[in-house]
Amino acid sequence: MLRFDELFLRMSSESTLIIGAGPAGLAIAGQLHHLELPYQIVEQASTVAPAWYRHYDRLHLHTVKKLSHLPHKPFAESLPQYIPREDLVAYFEAYAKEKEINPDFGVTISSVKKEGQNWVATSTGGQVYPAKQVVICTGFNRKPHEPQWKGMERFKGKIVHSRFYKTGKAYAGQKVLVVGMGNTGAEVALDLFECGAKASLSVRGPINIVRRDTFGRPVQETAILLSKFPHVVGDTLGKLTSILTVGDLSPHGIERPDVAPARQLRETGKTPVIDVGTVDRIKAGDIRVFPTINSFGEEDILFDNGQREAFDAIILATGYRPALSEFLDSEEGIFDGNGYPANWKVEAQPGLYLLGYDVYTPGGLLLSIRRDSERIATDIASQS
Ligand SMILES: Cc1cc2nc3c(=O)[nH]c(=O)nc-3n(C[C@H](O)[C@H](O)[C@H](O)COP(=O)(O)OP(=O)(O)OC[C@H]3O[C@@H](n4cnc5c(N)ncnc54)[C@H](O)[C@@H]3O)c2cc1C
Repeated sequence: MLRFDELFLRMSSESTLIIGAGPAGLAIAGQLHHLELPYQIVEQASTVAPAWYRHYDRLHLHTVKKLSHLPHKPFAESLPQYIPREDLVAYFEAYAKEKEINPDFGVTISSVKKEGQNWVATSTGGQVYPAKQVVICTGFNRKPHEPQWKGMERFKGKIVHSRFYKTGKAYAGQKVLVVGMGNTGAEVALDLFECGAKASLSVRGPINIVRRDTFGRPVQETAILLSKFPHVVGDTLGKLTSILTVGDLSPHGIERPDVAPARQLRETGKTPVIDVGTVDRIKAGDIRVFPTINSFGEEDILFDNGQREAFDAIILATGYRPALSEFLDSEEGIFDGNGYPANWKVEAQPGLYLLGYDVYTPGGLLLSIRRDSERIATDIASQS
């Protein structure tokens, strides 16, 4: 007769291990629950979707609700088109409850490797999780990326990564520089302005910007529709729309790249800025734009064009890194030519899946998480 620990190992090694209980982890757990397939899920934090508890207060999804929900549970009719952060948190909690998703909380996986036919994940606390398949759902935004500049350590003001930014109220009356104009940087600058701070942006190069709603239609839906046409049509219309609706920001310090938004996304994975009001504030002169930082002084910043300006605080909206190499034993087949993680199935490592890393498809990450969770679950089911 098998001992309990042997039985546990055998049962575990016939099931799937999901690492991370953000939206991607919840999505694949929801799919496996639907198919009545066994799985275990671990999460380093103490709640599901912890990033959404942490994100800044004013955040609403930039993607529409019908294209942003998890599998088998649309958002409630009563919720608005662009879901507010706190409603999303409640939705993720309700999803976990409804689909009976009970992660092992407080478990940080520090190693994932193949042993024989099975996968073995080990936590920092020494727990061992054997599994037939592993689905990595640790997020594209796992580690904040914090560039270093000359003299940074001398700066007397506050320097904080956008990961820790909650509201502009804490900065009212202060001169604040937001470094980086991706979606987060653009919205944080707007939030700072609306909360009474003197907000500026430091912008590194040309940026594709699209309005969240264009000609009465969500830009996400338009992008998906245009992606079905030959590229030349979608790229031309997309670029034209951006020119017509956003206008020329070059007098304010922001150039438009030659490449169309859709093509840039397709080829480099760089998402255009989906504007929710920052552009108008820049045009009105309420948010100033500076070029790349050259170096820090004690109280001021020297920019690449020789301009020098004093600031009370710096918010680094400089993005994140998935940092998969920190725990994956083998990188075979993991990264593509742009250095981004492969999506869904790692062909070179049977039984290993990645969910939540598709930066190339128009429509947003939540939509691709829903789509790919289905592909992964179907693939796992075919091997059961
Ligand atoms: C500010 C912001 C706004 C966004 N808005 C939109 C939007 O409008 N529409 C859209 O489609 N997408 C949006 N996204 C992108 C994306 O949908 C979200 O980042 C989403 O949370 C991704 O889900 P995820 O599960 O892949 O990653 P995460 O939410 O980051 O979840 C990963 C989980 O893995 C856990 N974890 C990490 N490492 C380990 C480990 N070693 N061991 C155990 N657990 C671990 C983490 O604690 C976390 O809970 C936005 C992203 C950001 C940052």
